[in-house]
Amino acid sequence: MKVPMLDLSEQYQSLKEEIFASLEEIMSGSRFILGDNVKKLEQDVADYSSAKYGVGVANGSDALHISLLGCGVKAGDEVIVPAFTFFATAGAVARAGAVPVFVDIDPKTYNIDPAKIEAAVTEKTKAIIPVHLYGQMADMEPIAEIAKKHSLAIIEDAAQAIGSKYKGKNVGELGTTATYSFFPTKNLGGYGDGGMIITNDDDIAETMRVIRVHGSKPKYYHHILGYNSRLDELQAGILNVKFPHLNTWSEARREKAAVYTELLNEKLGDLVVTPFVEEHNYHVFHQYTIQVPDRSGLQEFLKEKGIGSMIYYPKPLHLQPVFSELGYKEGDLPETEKAAEAVLSLPMFPELKREQQEYVIDQIAAYFSNHPAKVKKETSFA
Ligand SMILES: *Cc1c(COP(=O)(O)O)cnc(C)c1O
Repeated sequence: MKVPMLDLSEQYQSLKEEIFASLEEIMSGSRFILGDNVKKLEQDVADYSSAKYGVGVANGSDALHISLLGCGVKAGDEVIVPAFTFFATAGAVARAGAVPVFVDIDPKTYNIDPAKIEAAVTEKTKAIIPVHLYGQMADMEPIAEIAKKHSLAIIEDAAQAIGSKYKGKNVGELGTTATYSFFPTKNLGGYGDGGMIITNDDDIAETMRVIRVHGSKPKYYHHILGYNSRLDELQAGILNVKFPHLNTWSEARREKAAVYTELLNEKLGDLVVTPFVEEHNYHVFHQYTIQVPDRSGLQEFLKEKGIGSMIYYPKPLHLQPVFSELGYKEGDLPETEKAAEAVLSLPMFPELKREQQEYVIDQIAAYFSNHPAKVKKETSFA
């Protein structure tokens, strides 16, 4: 049996005709940039997130960058980010000319630890970017309180978390802006790059719309520096076909996650740390991420058995060479560093079959049954 990390083919087959019809309409109409499809998706995604505005941009990384600029972050400002996330979260801060200030995570959820944020606030701090990692929202209430106290913008990096909820609130409801990515592997993925920002703020929405068209307003007059960063019509056309299925897919992911957790606890309860989900959270399981002893050995074994697995993310951002000038060193963010050494994500997509999941868990069990050291898990969050 083969179990890839992600298989997009079944979803494509089921939507093929609608997708072709949408592409045909766009190509016949010959309107490719910022047309009706982008408008429709912006409105639908904004409504879905209970936000006033959606601003389609070229990708999730630009969504972060343009959010920062829209919130007025400038060269020399500081922006607080978790160190355990995809590079783009901090990359966007640096691209805005600002300084990423890295904060450690809560080891249970892998999200930024609100209790450690305030110590990182200085006079230069302008914003916080909580990341909703793996599809579970960060602890937004204390983050919002700190932001209010120090007049900071909140930019929610929801690239992995479209559709997730926190205490009944949607992504973006407690933030100044929130950003989505439509990268093909994300929960709502296009067939290329794409992204969107949502916000309730009239002025920020308007500024971001101007920034994505070179800062041009009116056309060919430039008062601010912008970029070429648009969600294109063809991607929006594909996403408009996929979007109505998003909640069904999120539910399917949650069911797969429950199956993994049940099987793992049954067969490997003393070895593997399964995902911790806060009771008040609706987790959309962009990734199903466990902690295992002897991770590299297991990963190699799974590969031989035809099973995909991935490490998100192996190197914390505060230790990345590109940020070496910021002066962080090993040991500065211990929970982030521990997580980076132990996490392993298993195959996860809405079309994953029960037999495939059983095979994955059986093979993990097989690996550890022959394992010389019989390493016990050190942590438990259940
Ligand atoms: C994917 C991702 C991004 C960047 O999105 P792109 O569309 O690939 O630019 C940013 N942050 C996180 C947490 C992501 O997972």
